[in-house]
Amino acid sequence: MSYSITLPSWTAGENALEKVPEICAPYGKHAVIIGGRHACEALCPALKEACAGKISLFGPIWYGGEASEQNLEMLETISQVRGADMIFAVGGGKALDTGKALAHRLGKKVFTFPTIASTCAACTAVSILYKPDGSFDRPFFLPQPPAHAFIHLPVIASAPEKYLWAGLGDTYAKYFEATMSARGVELKHYHALGVGISAMCLEPLLKYGRTAMEDHRRGEVTPALEQTVLTVIVNTAAASILLTQEGIIDFNTGLAHAIYYALTSFPDLPVEKEHLHGEVVGFGTLALLLVDGQEKMYDTMKAFNESVALPTKIGDIGIKPEDLDRVLPRVLEMHDIDRSPYPITLPMLREAFRRLQ
Ligand SMILES: [Zn+2]
Repeated sequence: MSYSITLPSWTAGENALEKVPEICAPYGKHAVIIGGRHACEALCPALKEACAGKISLFGPIWYGGEASEQNLEMLETISQVRGADMIFAVGGGKALDTGKALAHRLGKKVFTFPTIASTCAACTAVSILYKPDGSFDRPFFLPQPPAHAFIHLPVIASAPEKYLWAGLGDTYAKYFEATMSARGVELKHYHALGVGISAMCLEPLLKYGRTAMEDHRRGEVTPALEQTVLTVIVNTAAASILLTQEGIIDFNTGLAHAIYYALTSFPDLPVEKEHLHGEVVGFGTLALLLVDGQEKMYDTMKAFNESVALPTKIGDIGIKPEDLDRVLPRVLEMHDIDRSPYPITLPMLREAFRRLQ
């Protein structure tokens, strides 16, 4: 048996868009822009300027507000979408995931233009699909990541800072979940490479994360912000692609995500509506470290969360001690912990969460 793996390619910098004509030229002359409304307002003037006289652009077309089957079908009916040589997907995770899935279904190349750095969607080979009501539908695995990502830092630096802030939690969780899930396993080459890269989902954030958030607040593109944005988008995507193969989650998740999914499975709890994915995953990572007995690292990550105002206590995400009686058993039902190196038990979770109150 053989397998092929394609890792992300990207252009990053203060003027990443100037490279668009050169990099996209081999794929055609006509692109359709699909994206979020604010995202396109922020990015498209500079994109149009960069492409003038070289690539004809149609759009922007609003992606529909949700990465859903319904919106994919709606976009597929647009003749300019079907007629374009390539798709330029502009925006946050849902807009990019829509563009990626749409391009795959139409057999076209997709180029991504992230306008926030909250997830690695710009560089991963999966689209997360949702139902029209916003609830989770399914992951749609793609054979390859987007053809190229253009990470134009000035637009990301001027976006609301909460996205990068939450992205920190989801990004560093990758290291702890991958290393815990893979512990004691004789890994295939690509899985081992993915675990190795996952260290780069943590180290740059410890070094630059706090400074990056301060720079972001001022809307400034700085070396710390660049390192942090690329860690969230590129490093995490490279690790994810290697840790997920053949449509199987493999070593790509773990207890922090199990906690997130358990906490968001009760509609009466405020977690899903009032808190961002990465914010809750970052908190779940503290529980992972306590369950796993990584006391020193728990101290490190608790101090990191405090330094950037990510949650460290259940009260920070609107959870009361009495809510834990129904949340913690739900954690154990999540498939994200299938790869745990030992069975995670209710008493382990209770003890960890006792310390997170
Ligand atoms: Zn996540």
